[in-house]
Amino acid sequence: MASLPSRFSLFAATLGLAGRRRLPCHHAPAAAHTSSGSRGRAETEKPGGPTTMLRHLLLKLRATGPVTVAEYMREALTNPGQGYYTRGGGIGESGDFVTSPEISQIFGELIGIWYISEWIATGKPKAFQLVELGPGRGTLTDDILRVFHQLASLLSKCDVSIHLVEVSPKLSETQALMLTGGKVQSNPEDKSAYMKGVSKTGIPIFWYRDIQDVPPGYSFYLAHEFFDALPIHKFQRTEKGWREVLVDVDPEVPDQLRFVLSPSSTPATENFIQPEERRDHVEVCPEAGVIIQRLACRIEKDGGAALVADYGHDGTKTDTFRGFRNHKLHDVLKAPGTADLTADVDYSYLRKMTQGRTATLGPIKQREFLKNMGIDLRLQVLLQNSRDTQSREQLLQSYDMLMNPEKMGDCFNFFALLPHHRLLHPDKKHKPESKSPVPPVAGFDELLLK
Ligand code: SAH
Repeated sequence: MASLPSRFSLFAATLGLAGRRRLPCHHAPAAAHTSSGSRGRAETEKPGGPTTMLRHLLLKLRATGPVTVAEYMREALTNPGQGYYTRGGGIGESGDFVTSPEISQIFGELIGIWYISEWIATGKPKAFQLVELGPGRGTLTDDILRVFHQLASLLSKCDVSIHLVEVSPKLSETQALMLTGGKVQSNPEDKSAYMKGVSKTGIPIFWYRDIQDVPPGYSFYLAHEFFDALPIHKFQRTEKGWREVLVDVDPEVPDQLRFVLSPSSTPATENFIQPEERRDHVEVCPEAGVIIQRLACRIEKDGGAALVADYGHDGTKTDTFRGFRNHKLHDVLKAPGTADLTADVDYSYLRKMTQGRTATLGPIKQREFLKNMGIDLRLQVLLQNSRDTQSREQLLQSYDMLMNPEKMGDCFNFFALLPHHRLLHPDKKHKPESKSPVPPVAGFDELLLK
């Protein structure tokens, strides 16, 4: 741990970062919205009539019969023509939901510091890739890159590259604009990426549709509000056993969808429900299971770490599937393609799917993670540097949105995958009887101030 700069020195290095914009709030109450300037949602459809996506689904359901909630969610969010995210999503104040990086620059800065502290704790490898899954508007990576730039002297001998996994062509354009000023090359010949560019600070950035396309190597993975957007299967306990919840056309009301139960058990009910399950309603996200296995395999093989931040539970919640439109809850079956659909992340499932390939830490509450990362100190610095009352109020308001247990402080959690050896004290490898403590992992422990 000797070479790990203290939180103070990392902060000292980032003191120069200018205070910056941001508006309160996500999948969080809209009341705290203050400033303007954020991007809106994909163009809305003709009011009243069925959306293009609904017409597509009605044709499909009439032809094939009911579909799983997972299939419905995949169509509604990422259908290549009319999916909600494909058309640009609605991240931002004038859209449907706002996420933590959009609320405060501090959020991304602290995450940037987390990666730096892990890089130092693992002996400053000569190169690392930062791989973000579902980067939205690119704000989080932008804030992290600013921290990397501020710490350039520390990173000067390290070959850093950015790898963004994004299915939405619209959002990848937004990210390119934010991160490179729009100077990108499509379909580069030398890479599996579909686009590449260079950040404003000179770091290469690559875009992919799938994590499998990202080249191997020592990597830091980041998934903020990504897993909650992946399609879930829903199951209901009945007197006759477990049944899968499906989406069907409502025969009573034209152009309307409804939930139905599978008439018998299905391969999914057989595979996904554990014999010891006690709940009456269960949600399972196999796509999250596949991705977390890939991350665990890659970290086991090449080293690095993954940080997952999302709202979630540890295998206890039941029905969490919901829609957001215009910062309000939205009926998940209404106007598909025009609203965000989401479900809480089941961290116990993610942990299980790592199959012990990596160590896992968390989930811990967002307010605890950010506190351990030194959010209070960073807030004080920004408050001291801000010139007017309005920006000070904005800073305090956004801090409250991130940290207040009633707002985002308690329901959002941080969860990490780390190579097993990261949690072994270096001495222990050679002297198993060593009593010295395991080197702390920032955020999950308080950083050492030395
Ligand atoms: N991380 C951002 C955005 C969250 S919204 C933030 O916190 O602000 C979810 C993001 O995941 C969007 O960028 C969406 O286009 C992307 N996404 C959704 N499903 C995906 C998939 N299957 N593969 C890759 N990206 C996906």
